[in-house]
Amino acid sequence: MTTAAIIVAAGRGTRAGGDLPKQWQDLRGETVAARTLAAFAALPCIDRIVLVLHPDDMDRAAAFPGATAVAGGATRDASVRAGLESLVDSGVTRVLIHDVARPLVPARVVTAVLDSLDTHDGAAPALEITDALWRGAAGRVTGTEDRSGLYRAQTPQGFRFDAILAAHRAHPGGAADDVEVARAAGLAVAIVPGDERNLKITRPEDFARAAQFLETPMDIRTGNGFDVHAFEPGDHVILCGIRIPHDRALKGHSDADVGMHTITDAIYGALAEGDIGRHFPPSDPQWKGAASHIFLEHAVGLCAARGFRIANVDLTLICERPKIGPHAAAMQAELARIMALDPNRISVKATTSERLGFTGREEGIAALATVTVIGG
Ligand code: MG
Repeated sequence: MTTAAIIVAAGRGTRAGGDLPKQWQDLRGETVAARTLAAFAALPCIDRIVLVLHPDDMDRAAAFPGATAVAGGATRDASVRAGLESLVDSGVTRVLIHDVARPLVPARVVTAVLDSLDTHDGAAPALEITDALWRGAAGRVTGTEDRSGLYRAQTPQGFRFDAILAAHRAHPGGAADDVEVARAAGLAVAIVPGDERNLKITRPEDFARAAQFLETPMDIRTGNGFDVHAFEPGDHVILCGIRIPHDRALKGHSDADVGMHTITDAIYGALAEGDIGRHFPPSDPQWKGAASHIFLEHAVGLCAARGFRIANVDLTLICERPKIGPHAAAMQAELARIMALDPNRISVKATTSERLGFTGREEGIAALATVTVIGG
């Protein structure tokens, strides 16, 4: 499967104001076109990018070495057609057609369109209309319209390449978008969820809205945690909140749950909030024998208070015994409950150290964890 993105940038965009077509105007330090191209260039699922330019703008192609520049036509249809024709015999099987004026398209929207092409000829993002719809004339409301079943269409609109090429070749012209061209050829087009960030810059005030979205980008942070607890005489260990019978116990100030401590430290790490010892000093007698879910709940709460949500947790326990495998699902479920997370965002796995080192000699258990948090 080879996927191309055609970025349609041949319009003159006069409604946005300014001396230049909107795609060449500045949006927080980069042109609109540069931001749109970068959004697609960052996606591993896109193999080729075609940039359709106005014939007068062909010298701008040098700024986009990762894209193939093609001269557009007099209408949007003609420009898309030129982009499609440039891909004939290229081996491309799927194509996304995108307005250059939508620079903030989220990766999630692009992948949803591509996923939908597995089962449909075409797919495109859209948002349901939630405002009331009016008709108006001369500044007065002349009627209302039923909004049910109405959508605001976005791009990229995705198609199987041969099907949309044939549809464009057969179309007489004048279509509002490529979905209209596809439907005229009898193709079924699925609707996938669009995104408010994926706005089309049309009027001067749209630059301000897009800039506002850019001010609050997604803030993704990763933290790691590492912890070790030694064995002492006993008859069970507690790992990730699960009591496991064993011929030794883990030694520690609290319940010595090395798995939960490690995840807790990884969360503090992602937030640059120090470690478990800073929030729960071992010198403080109130934490003696404490159940470790108290620490984990504190870290999760701090995460939420700082405006972050936990995207995933990956924990590795290192020991020869006890065997973790039979208990991993229970640990995952218990962590999910404590952290109020979907269990499929929590990985609990284990390894031995091939009888090497302190874990190999069964002197204790080590654990490491990676946690990703998302804010903004
Ligand atoms: Mg510890």
